[in-house]
Amino acid sequence: MMLQEDFRKEAHFDLLLNDSSAMRLILIFTLFIIPLFSTGQSNLCKTDGKIDPARDSLKFHHFQSLLSYNLANPQIQNRSVQYFPVVIHVVSRQTTNPVSEAQVLNQLDVINADFSGNGENILKLLSEFVPLLGRGEMKFCLATVDPNGQATSGITFTHTDIPNIALQSGPEGRIAVFYDQLGGKTGWDPTRYINVWIGEYGDFLGSASFPGAAPFSEEIGIVIDPQYFGSIGEAGNSGVYGRGHTLTHEMGHFFGLKHIWGKGFDANCDDSDDVPDTPNAEGPYFGCPSGQRISCNSSDMYQNFMDLTDDRCLAAFTKGQVAYMQSAIETYYPGLAVDGECATYTDSYSDWYAQLIWSYDASSNTYVIYSDEILDQVRKVEVYGVDGRLAYTNYWDDQQTHLMNLSALASGIYFVRIAGDGNKYFVRTIVLY
Ligand SMILES: [Zn+2]
Repeated sequence: MMLQEDFRKEAHFDLLLNDSSAMRLILIFTLFIIPLFSTGQSNLCKTDGKIDPARDSLKFHHFQSLLSYNLANPQIQNRSVQYFPVVIHVVSRQTTNPVSEAQVLNQLDVINADFSGNGENILKLLSEFVPLLGRGEMKFCLATVDPNGQATSGITFTHTDIPNIALQSGPEGRIAVFYDQLGGKTGWDPTRYINVWIGEYGDFLGSASFPGAAPFSEEIGIVIDPQYFGSIGEAGNSGVYGRGHTLTHEMGHFFGLKHIWGKGFDANCDDSDDVPDTPNAEGPYFGCPSGQRISCNSSDMYQNFMDLTDDRCLAAFTKGQVAYMQSAIETYYPGLAVDGECATYTDSYSDWYAQLIWSYDASSNTYVIYSDEILDQVRKVEVYGVDGRLAYTNYWDDQQTHLMNLSALASGIYFVRIAGDGNKYFVRTIVLY
């Protein structure tokens, strides 16, 4: 590990506190800016696998007995879908919100597909692991109502001047990104919302609090560096981590999962992730291996979301991991799931088409089409040149966003044809520059 910048800066901030007599007390304190390290790959995820909830607590005993029951009763895989409201707090040094609604919806589509066992890499899963595939009946929706009962987009934006705010700490080691008073954004009630902060995180991709183990209740949630949030926008240029699976991994931690190889980053076969069906591995994998890889006398599941391989490699949770997460949700987040669904649904193809929003993300050469309403049928999306030649074809299932990467096409006029049920279809003209 190399020290990249050998400096320690101090900055002064005003902390506003309200005491019981509503007097305002202004404290001046010092916020240390941590020296930046050039981190190795082992530090991609800042969630420390050693953090466990107190093992002697009543809650932990409840969790363990529930887990044993859930593991022994595989029909839990068929339970009804739980919907979790998510609020995205963008904390940025840019003056306007750099994270678009399309980027957020795209990110939620990615994790919803991953959790249901239908992620983009599922067909790459090594055949020996296909029987282990877990399908979590969990869906993540943008919050539509804020803690005061007001309608919300589910996205907040806070401007900050603090670089790498997810690494900066204030009094008692509180991390700045989680607090209004420290230049970040105080989250919403963590018993009702999953708070996800988007903030600069040095060389880290992200981190999450473990169930029952956050140092402060304000710090319950997930942090993702903006470069690795979703698969379009700024994330579209993030190379091997630019497909949105970092949030899947951190959501796994948030629901209690440890890294698949066990605790810490040391290579050894003596520790475990405490999930019975995940193969024991010596340590993490990076990049995107292929074929069978053996350690600790078994084939390693390097395509598991809780490993550290590239986004193009991450494919699956196991049934045991899903049972583990469901047990953690029941024990530690009993009020988090809501009744209702992530989006409104419509049967009318023309109503659905009329409300589509079309946008172009130049940084990733991607056309984004997104809908507030879900049409419960697969649609076929085709792009034709003016000469009638078919240039692109893909299917759009029940996700809210559809991404068309048209970077391989020459400049010119194209027609996008979206076909719904039966013979109904609409055509829209687009121009590529
Ligand atoms: Zn991790």
